[in-house]
Amino acid sequence: MSPSVAAAQARLPSPYLPEAEAVAEALTALKGSLDWPAVINAARPWVRAVREQPAPFWAMESLLREYPISSAEGLALMRLAEALLRVPDAETAIALTADQLGRADFDDAKKLADGAPPLAKDSPHKMLANLSSSAIALSKKFLPDSVNPPGVMQRLGSRTVVAATVRAIQLLGRQFVLGRSIEEALDEATSQKKGHQKNTAKLSQSQSQSQSQLRFSYDMLGEGARTERDALRYLASYSHAIQAIAGGRVAAAPMAADGISIKLSALFSRYEDTQRERVFATLLPRVQSLIDLAAPANLNLTIDAEECDRLELSLDVFEALAATIHAQYPQWQGFGLAVQSYQTRALAVIDEVAAIAQRHNLKFMLRLVKGAYWDGEIKRAQENGLPAYPVFTHKHHTDINYLACAARLFDHVAVIYPQFATHNAGTVAAIMQLAKKADAPFEMQRLHGMGEGVYREVLKGGDIPCRIYAPVGEHRDLLAYLVRRLLENGANSSFVHQLADEHVSAEVLLASPLRATAASNLPLPPHLYGPRRRNSSGVDLADLAMRAPLDAAVAAMKVPAVTMASADGASAAMARLHAGFATWQVRPLAERAALLRKVADRLDAALPEFCALLVKEADKTLGDCVAEVREAVDFCRYYADQAEDRLAEQTLPGPTGESNVLRLHGRGVFVCISPWNFPLAIFAGQVAAALVAGNTVAAKPAEQTPVVARRFVELLHEVGVPKDAVAWVHGLGDTVGAALVADSRTAGVCFTGSTAVARIINRTLAAKDSAIVPLIAETGGLNAMVVDSSALPEQVIDAVVQSAFRSAGQRCSALRLLCVHESVADGVIEMLRGAMAELNVGDPADLATDVGPVIDDEAYTGIQAHIQRLRGSARLLGETALSSNFPRLVAPVAFELPQIADLKDEIFGPVLHVVRWGGAVEDVVRQINALGYGLTLGVQTRIDSRAKRIAELASVGNVYVNRNMIGAVVGVQPFGGEGLSGTGPKAGGPHYLYRFCAEQTVTINTAAAGGNAELLAGM
Ligand SMILES: Cc1cc2nc3c(=O)[nH]c(=O)nc-3n(C[C@H](O)[C@H](O)[C@H](O)COP(=O)(O)OP(=O)(O)OC[C@H]3O[C@@H](n4cnc5c(N)ncnc54)[C@H](O)[C@@H]3O)c2cc1C
Repeated sequence: MSPSVAAAQARLPSPYLPEAEAVAEALTALKGSLDWPAVINAARPWVRAVREQPAPFWAMESLLREYPISSAEGLALMRLAEALLRVPDAETAIALTADQLGRADFDDAKKLADGAPPLAKDSPHKMLANLSSSAIALSKKFLPDSVNPPGVMQRLGSRTVVAATVRAIQLLGRQFVLGRSIEEALDEATSQKKGHQKNTAKLSQSQSQSQSQLRFSYDMLGEGARTERDALRYLASYSHAIQAIAGGRVAAAPMAADGISIKLSALFSRYEDTQRERVFATLLPRVQSLIDLAAPANLNLTIDAEECDRLELSLDVFEALAATIHAQYPQWQGFGLAVQSYQTRALAVIDEVAAIAQRHNLKFMLRLVKGAYWDGEIKRAQENGLPAYPVFTHKHHTDINYLACAARLFDHVAVIYPQFATHNAGTVAAIMQLAKKADAPFEMQRLHGMGEGVYREVLKGGDIPCRIYAPVGEHRDLLAYLVRRLLENGANSSFVHQLADEHVSAEVLLASPLRATAASNLPLPPHLYGPRRRNSSGVDLADLAMRAPLDAAVAAMKVPAVTMASADGASAAMARLHAGFATWQVRPLAERAALLRKVADRLDAALPEFCALLVKEADKTLGDCVAEVREAVDFCRYYADQAEDRLAEQTLPGPTGESNVLRLHGRGVFVCISPWNFPLAIFAGQVAAALVAGNTVAAKPAEQTPVVARRFVELLHEVGVPKDAVAWVHGLGDTVGAALVADSRTAGVCFTGSTAVARIINRTLAAKDSAIVPLIAETGGLNAMVVDSSALPEQVIDAVVQSAFRSAGQRCSALRLLCVHESVADGVIEMLRGAMAELNVGDPADLATDVGPVIDDEAYTGIQAHIQRLRGSARLLGETALSSNFPRLVAPVAFELPQIADLKDEIFGPVLHVVRWGGAVEDVVRQINALGYGLTLGVQTRIDSRAKRIAELASVGNVYVNRNMIGAVVGVQPFGGEGLSGTGPKAGGPHYLYRFCAEQTVTINTAAAGGNAELLAGM
């Protein structure tokens, strides 16, 4: 990677600043400069006027009042809006509409009041009635020319109801786009400008106000690109739009002209920090080509703000572009960036943008927003076990930071033209105060279809410029945008939501946000599981400071050679462990649990070292390594808690004069045999469970990955687990593994690996004359994902690529069989092919690698042989190109099979089989069940009742709906299957430890010595 591409140093402070610190900084930055009572005085009349003259029925405010997102109807509307228009087949469209409208029970009460008998819950008439009435309700609201007399809809079939609903949603959606094409949008903008000009001139009675103060920033809608084809389509659409906006003219100033907003994620499918080199090689020239159109026309081109983990990267891209702008268009002042104030480091971002402007002698436009991805940022931080949130958790902190950022922008007016995007009347009035003091040019911004009422009032003076962010696109592209707006503004904390609610007084609505709240509004990610069990610590690989120790550990790691034990060695280990059992099993439960917690903390602290071992010994990518170490830590902490909760002595009820106690204790020596694909997590999970239950443990790692396992056992010994309680027994499965299983002292076996080896172990155990002992076997799967036509293709592709190809497909949970509905199969396959083409296959130590090598030569040969067979018998759908000569790389590949039953064996590699389905989804599930495995199943549908039905029918251990199907989290998604996939109980679940225990009840006749003193004493 060239030095200009590789970020040597972060530009910004850590994204994980303590919230209290960040809000204190924001309050200090405001330096008491705001007079809030004056803000209220300014904004109150706006609020009153908006409430007295409400927005039209289709405006966001009205919509939310009519159908709040918290209500069944609002939710149904939102879910339908998101999905219905993309469904091509009537059957699914009807099912989706019935599912959503049916559950909303719009007018049950009304029907009863009208004297209609209540319909049975599952009656098809009820569904139809609901559908009809709901569609009518919707069409009344959204079809302005709806003149159908009541009752007509009920008589029409469900197809008509769906068609009406589709139409209603189309009309609803249309309110939030300015036009379906840029030409249509430009026409609409012209007429809005004229209208605005007329109004303001009338109101201000001033001839000087004849110039319209309204501008537009057009946004060409679409989901983030998943393929190169998508990206090139968006590029063409942006280019065309800029040319159309310019109209062959050169604007006097970008501040006074319309402009464009672009999303970098639309222009390159791999706009990610891990892909810096490609971002600079591919994305940069694309944005440059747009600048080459916008700059000569003197238009504003703003880069929208996206997720926090791309922020550093976006600034690097921004500065690289600034350098070329300085060289080519030094006079242009239209280059812009959006900055989100919900980020705790937003002030630093603004300073950095100003510094970039100064370094390159330019002036930028900067749009200050609060931020549109709050829920996603919170979820990501929790899932990744990050130390804190990169965004504020209190709404008023976001508001404070917004104003602090506004004040900071006014400090930088020499190099920044401030643009304030908000619909919040309080925020607007506060900005006006700051602007008056600063006496500098600025503009306000709002979204098309939103904030119209407030801005009608704010702009009455006619002297404040306002830019409308105007989405442009067809219905299908609009819906994701619409749903985001509905969600964002449907939140109770949202200003728009509260403005629509007459019960919220102006005082509450405009209350000062200028107060710091010390505690976070949400538990921080480390405390996600409550006060008792700490979440394992994750790493944000996009954060240089957090990643540095990992990079250093990987660079320094040399995996030592280790020698294997013989069968005799295994027997000697068994003897030691057998002898050690007596002492270990009587160690108090609390002590055994405490040792697990200690080892968890040590492992957590040693994450870089263990990641480096996993990269070097198991050829895993860094992201996978972090997840694996975290899983091991979670196992230790979870089983410690579970042991204390579930294995403690229980007193049982019984007759008087007798005490009855149930005790659980270790069984003896447990043999734990783990696989190479999770050489730390599965190894640690098995060993921790067996140990804490009171067993001593012979822990046999896979032949390919002994060192990381040995290091974990060393940690156990270091924290105080005796050497005769757990032993690392490294050797061949055929000899050492077989000897351990066959040993008469073995009191139980916990195995994860192939179904074939599980059968051998099972037979060996059955053949022994010694005690019959438990076998916990977790084996493979022929895991399927069922996709119907209501699913969002982009989401499906993300889930498929991760599930089928991450870890080179070497996960038991990995997706092997994608079943796509025939009505959308071509499109999904096309997108899949494009997304596969964007994967990097290579050295796992390279951060940019998505797919590393397979584990060994034997695996490589086996997978290649399977691929060869498929090349002859199935249709090749897509294959990633290999550009690295790292050994044992298998390029991700996808084939189409005629039918589900054609998939016979689990191929443990990046090979995906695709089948098209039609007809009843229940039949698809039955065919999947008939494969005999039962580990994981993915479901992609927007029809909730369908997802539920599939889960009920499927004989699998883990069902994942509308997400990927890998990466089960300890205590959250207990993992393990049925049928050929394993015996259960689930690892990381509440029933796991019992299988490692023997049970004993102790009954004492307390009345034996002379009578029942207790009973008599109570008489
Ligand atoms: C012209 C324009 C362009 C925009 N461009 C972008 C863009 O490029 N990128 C982008 O991300 N967004 C963008 N947005 C959306 C914007 O970020 C806001 O989400 C939206 O404007 C709502 O803010 P508000 O001041 O109008 O409403 P308010 O209701 O006052 O504020 C809502 C804000 O508070 C945040 N919030 C809600 N609950 C909490 C909580 N518990 N703790 C902390 N914060 C909370 C929300 O996430 C949201 O950001 C744009 C908005 C406009 C008007």
